[in-house]
Amino acid sequence: MEPKSLKVIYDDLYLTDYPTVSCEMPQRVQSIMRVLAEHYPVVKPSSATDNDLLLVHTQSLVNIVKSDPQLFRVAVAAAGGAILAANLACEQQPSFACVRPPGHHASPDSHWGFCFFNNVAIAVESLLKRRVIGSALILDVDLHFGDGTDNFFSGRREVTVANIQDNYREAFLRHVDEALASNQYDLVAISAGFDRHVEDWGGTLTTEDYFTIGRAVRDFAITKCQGRYFAVLEGGYNVNVLGENALALCQGMDNPVTP
Ligand SMILES: [Zn+2]
Repeated sequence: MEPKSLKVIYDDLYLTDYPTVSCEMPQRVQSIMRVLAEHYPVVKPSSATDNDLLLVHTQSLVNIVKSDPQLFRVAVAAAGGAILAANLACEQQPSFACVRPPGHHASPDSHWGFCFFNNVAIAVESLLKRRVIGSALILDVDLHFGDGTDNFFSGRREVTVANIQDNYREAFLRHVDEALASNQYDLVAISAGFDRHVEDWGGTLTTEDYFTIGRAVRDFAITKCQGRYFAVLEGGYNVNVLGENALALCQGMDNPVTP
């Protein structure tokens, strides 16, 4: 099934300067949006509800994050962005959710690594629980292992969490293809970290490689899962290159090719 042209999901709440490490700064999403807003329509999500959070997290973790109201407000806005992206994907509407804080290090009962709630896990679990989809592939291309996502879906046969951990460029891209070829899924979610870029911490992938990843997911989704796919921002810390890298991924994901 042919997907529609790409949308970007964003909320000014993501610019909140909540207490976190200095590298996970509001300028990350600001630098991405400066580029993406020129190319794609931007939609604002609703924030996630407690019931959404509790699909993945324990009440005690929710309470810990809630104890800082400013942080909680941003964290539920980020989870809401991923939920909207997942819902749109099921209408053949691909999107890139430009959120912060990131989510893939958040486990059911704990959080670390600049993450608080697991945005992608909440979004995918919400679709599974509502029986909108029966299976999913989560392709995590961040530099770091998405332990939170892996912990939550561990033992669940209907969800494959593919953490691509190879540090050699060609092998990395081959593993992306292998993850996509390995099975049939109802939906593909990209945990889109850009910290593997040659000018970021990982020093492996080029900007063009993010286009290649987006295009591989798009082509797979069109032929194998009724055009259902979306991406959510995870890491990526060099604000000088984040915008062009996110644009490359979006151009790869878009259908037809971005003007
Ligand atoms: Zn990372």
